[in-house]
Amino acid sequence: MDNGNGSSWNIDPCRRLNDLEIQEVMKFSRLLDNQGELNADDDKREGRSNPKGTFSVSSCYAWIMHNHGQFTPLNFPSKYIWNKTIPPKFSFLVWAAANGVVPTLSMLSRRGMTVVNICAFCNTSEKSVEHLFLHCSFIRQIWDHFLQQLGFVWAHPTTIIEFLWKWKLKISTKPLIFLRFCLPFAIWWSVWLERNDIIIEKKQRRKTLNSLILDIKLLLLGWAVNIDSFKNIKFDDFVFDWVNLFKE
Ligand SMILES: [Zn+2]
Repeated sequence: MDNGNGSSWNIDPCRRLNDLEIQEVMKFSRLLDNQGELNADDDKREGRSNPKGTFSVSSCYAWIMHNHGQFTPLNFPSKYIWNKTIPPKFSFLVWAAANGVVPTLSMLSRRGMTVVNICAFCNTSEKSVEHLFLHCSFIRQIWDHFLQQLGFVWAHPTTIIEFLWKWKLKISTKPLIFLRFCLPFAIWWSVWLERNDIIIEKKQRRKTLNSLILDIKLLLLGWAVNIDSFKNIKFDDFVFDWVNLFKE
């Protein structure tokens, strides 16, 4: 801290910062500047969530609910993500996406790695896991295909956690509800594998839209085979004829 004319914080990072990090540091610096002057008095703890200044679990709970809206650790869609139908490795990817810890190029770039931040599917900047899993123009075509096949009207929210919160539904043996329940897991897993093949393995021959849709259907079929309501469904119909197959 610098105590020349007034007080200011001297943030001296140990390495060169990239553009995103510079913005974060500026934001942090503004936050520090708004904290008022330090003085020589002894430090003391203050529970801001409680008007009395002390800490209590109930006031902390009220503060979390008030300040973080509907998306808190308390109502994170855990039961949807971790379920008996979907194998854990698929759930883990969805959990990581919901927590913003999927190692996308933009995330690696923010951590100081030098990477070319280009989306594997649409060649614009990858930006975020939200771009990759929801808003990328190529991935939107996959979503549109399945939403149309399921007869389901849906507009993607901005973030993954909002998506899961709005999408989450109870598992059911009814084919349409079962497929809808499993769909994000299957789409995101297939997209993630293909994206890694392109970016990490440098695969030259990319899968077509139809080929990725087929991958997703095969994953869904693998999870559906144990459900009674899918027992009499023929493989060809499952792959090519959802509209007639699941007409309600
Ligand atoms: Zn894209």
